[in-house]
Amino acid sequence: MEFPLAETIYDVAIIGGGPAGYTAAIRGAEYGLKVALIETAPKLGGTCLHVGCIPTKALLFNAEIWDHLNHAAEFGIGGIGTPTLDWAAVLKRKNAIIAKHVKGLEFLMKKNKVAVIAGYGRLTGAAKDGVHTVEVTAAGEGGAVSQVQAKNVVLATGSVAKMLPGLTADDRILTNIEILAMEQVPKSLIVIGAGAVGMEFTSLFRTFGSEVTLVEFLPRVVPVEDEEISKELTRLFKKRGIDVNTGARVEKVEKTETGVKVTFTDANGKTQVKEAEKVLVAVGRAGRTENIGLEKTRVEVERGLVKVNEAQETAEPGVFAIGDIVAGLPQLAHVGAMSGIVAVTKIAGRKFRPVRRDRIPGCTYTEPQIGSVGLTEAQAKEKGYEVKVGKFPFAGNAKATILGNHDGFVKIVSDAKYGEILGVHILGPQATELVAEAVAVLELEGTVEEMMFTIHAHPTLAESLLDAYGAVEGMAINA
Ligand SMILES: Cc1cc2nc3c(=O)[nH]c(=O)nc-3n(C[C@H](O)[C@H](O)[C@H](O)COP(=O)(O)OP(=O)(O)OC[C@H]3O[C@@H](n4cnc5c(N)ncnc54)[C@H](O)[C@@H]3O)c2cc1C
Repeated sequence: MEFPLAETIYDVAIIGGGPAGYTAAIRGAEYGLKVALIETAPKLGGTCLHVGCIPTKALLFNAEIWDHLNHAAEFGIGGIGTPTLDWAAVLKRKNAIIAKHVKGLEFLMKKNKVAVIAGYGRLTGAAKDGVHTVEVTAAGEGGAVSQVQAKNVVLATGSVAKMLPGLTADDRILTNIEILAMEQVPKSLIVIGAGAVGMEFTSLFRTFGSEVTLVEFLPRVVPVEDEEISKELTRLFKKRGIDVNTGARVEKVEKTETGVKVTFTDANGKTQVKEAEKVLVAVGRAGRTENIGLEKTRVEVERGLVKVNEAQETAEPGVFAIGDIVAGLPQLAHVGAMSGIVAVTKIAGRKFRPVRRDRIPGCTYTEPQIGSVGLTEAQAKEKGYEVKVGKFPFAGNAKATILGNHDGFVKIVSDAKYGEILGVHILGPQATELVAEAVAVLELEGTVEEMMFTIHAHPTLAESLLDAYGAVEGMAINA
């Protein structure tokens, strides 16, 4: 990392080097802007690379292999005995993946001539003569303070895990950070929160043999998904021996001599007490909007998140916000990255397309996976559409049979009048990959009829989409 010359005036200074910030930096440089990227952590990559998307998906891939090995006989493979899990080696591989991508980011910053500045960035107020000043404090006690000047500032400081009141994370009360560094797979785990993060850790540790209890306040798991997805995933989780408790209010989390004890009121109003080695608190993420100098600006903050317009610009001219700190958008790496692209495209004076909430794929990497985009059936009805639904089960898909994985379905939500596809909801094998087709279909305003005549290769899981489009007209081939 380098310190810039004081007289350099950047076109844009980005505070935070997670997926939102580093993507904005690269695209900004590609537009020919002079870019500074300020990062307080020792390495670029943010939550996503170090304690989020990448490490969790690395471990979930281990879980998939583990599951296959435990069912090797079904595939005619014998002689491998009882597989054993070397957790230290699993973590080592995960860390190597992270390290490789940190290097990749460092390379990309150099290649694009982005000035990476080490330190903690704070806005100092409104721009003076069209130039903003960001104060940067170097790491460590009494860290040197320098100033970065830029015509535009992009806030990309990300988010942190929310904790339940009165609790502090440690080696038994975990957030996403501690759970990814555990030295062993816990024998038992209570997961509080059934959003994507809670669901993925539940699925992961259940595969590795932990007894898992899931406690969710809302009436259903993955509450942002179509109701049928929540219902079927709950059934499949229960089948896997996961103790799923929805509509449950956590009353107390206490430490015992050997682990933790969680008291909650269940959906029937009864008090339940569960004990486990560890508890994961996965109840959402708070935007890192404190202590970055917002109070000295006109930037508006709503419940800890920054309000922006469709160009990602805040109420303070020349100050943009992207990624997890933005109000009104889901906290996902790809949303962060695209919001960063939008911001720097606007700064570069080019034409941009705003991030549309109904075009954002949502992926949950559980077993089975969820991939969805667009309106749920309930949302489409609420918006006044006359809704036509098509549903196709993976049980009718040949590739799913080959993979030995028949769980789940594809559900298409369409508008009866014009046949426009409004939402696609997939629960099943490779759903997180399959959803890419659906995102493109929605982006191009595709209709059921167009997609019914779109050739899908055989045998593929993607053919289940073709059958689901057909199912809207009651004409699936394989069901
Ligand atoms: C367990 C888990 C799994 C996840 N899995 C997925 C997934 O599979 N797919 C997906 O799309 N999303 C996933 N997410 C969400 C994803 O990680 C976030 O949406 C994404 O990291 C947000 O990117 P960001 O750049 O806005 O913020 P962050 O990634 O949080 O990065 C912010 C960066 O800013 C730096 N910073 C903060 N304040 C300052 C400051 N004042 N000065 C300088 N630097 C600062 C931080 O050190 C950090 O590097 C997951 C999250 C978790 C917790």
